[in-house]
Amino acid sequence: MNKEIFNTFLIKYAEIGIKGNNRYLFEDALCAHIGAAMKTIPGRYITRKTPGRIFLECYNDEKKGDFDFDKVVEKLTHIFGIVYICPVIVTEDEGEERLREKCVDYWRSMYGENASGTFKVACRRGRKNYPLNSMEVAADIGEAMIDAFPNIKVDVRKPDKFLNVEIRDKIYIYSESIDGPGGMPVGTNGKGMLLLSGGIDSPVAGYMISKRGVSLDAVYFNAPPYTSERAKQKVIDLAKIISAYTGPINLHIINFTDIQLAIYEKCPHDELTIIMRRYMMRIAEHLAYENGCHGLITGESVGQVASQTFASLVCTNEVCTLPVLRPLIAFDKQDIVEISEKIGTYETSILPYEDCCTIFVAKHPVTNPSRPVIQKHEHKLDDVIEELLAKAYETDEIVEIGK
Ligand code: ATP
Ligand code: MG
Repeated sequence: MNKEIFNTFLIKYAEIGIKGNNRYLFEDALCAHIGAAMKTIPGRYITRKTPGRIFLECYNDEKKGDFDFDKVVEKLTHIFGIVYICPVIVTEDEGEERLREKCVDYWRSMYGENASGTFKVACRRGRKNYPLNSMEVAADIGEAMIDAFPNIKVDVRKPDKFLNVEIRDKIYIYSESIDGPGGMPVGTNGKGMLLLSGGIDSPVAGYMISKRGVSLDAVYFNAPPYTSERAKQKVIDLAKIISAYTGPINLHIINFTDIQLAIYEKCPHDELTIIMRRYMMRIAEHLAYENGCHGLITGESVGQVASQTFASLVCTNEVCTLPVLRPLIAFDKQDIVEISEKIGTYETSILPYEDCCTIFVAKHPVTNPSRPVIQKHEHKLDDVIEELLAKAYETDEIVEIGK
């Protein structure tokens, strides 16, 4: 591909195209995210919305610097809602003969004089007053292409490449499409509170839910001095990595040490993790309500560890009234690892810093907790827990990520 010839991208979106009367909301959100992303790289940009299509025009700018094809594409591949990114030539309607020439010139600069393989011309007319119909345009250009390039052949069934020609207010020519991340524009589907640990799973869970248009806040429970500054920094770093996709995140850091110590002191050790997880959920839910979130998001996967057996999950879930979204619930670890590699969190997630869960862990945690039993043992905290919770909320340190 010859990147030099492009200064416009056609942005294709799928699901948001079918939202009826609300469609403009999704398109506007997508345009806003594209605009915001482009502000972070050199160049000057115009996002243009036409019926069913969004175009991004890129210009060099004296003050803001020259735009760079790869940097633009890199940004666009992080914006949920985009299905394909097509570098496109935009030209005026100067008659059929000029259009044939332009298509041939385009193909030559993309694939060279000796271009080979099979192709098909796909024409769309958004403007019905064009003198030829789509079939006629395609046949006309197809013939010119075969005349110009001896090594290419038409294949109407399964061509190697499509030469797309769209006749609208202007004429658009393109043949390459780069995959976008898919999904829906962030913020079009409310906000969730992600329980973000330093592990592999929760960043992936946040990414997945955000891909469905949900924006994120996050909460991390740390336990100084049992957990270090480095462990906390790791979580901040993970939040930064996913914020390239999810947009800005308010990360709440809650000091959980005293609650953990109280549980450790008063409750049976084989139930520590479950009881601790129940308090995490309670605190996360409190923060969710305070910050306008519709529910919680965790990286839990059924059966992965003792605290994630079906029975344990039910027991953890019981303390919440808000819905808890667990996008990884039926994923194998390897599948989660693959996503974390793809989105760039894996290397950070495997850094070996201690987590609050690993420090107060029992040798033989319960795998089939009984809810009444857990409730009974939790009552041992009755004297102290209200005060400890109030103190924990006071420690809330909000780190603004990706703003
Ligand atoms: P992860 O890889 O996401 O840490 P995990 O396999 O280590 O998950 P657990 O430690 O049982 O599993 O945690 C289950 C879920 O609880 C996590 O995915 C995360 O959503 C939440 N969680 C666990 N520890 C913390 C923490 N310290 N702060 C915030 N959330 C946490
Ligand atoms: Mg963990």
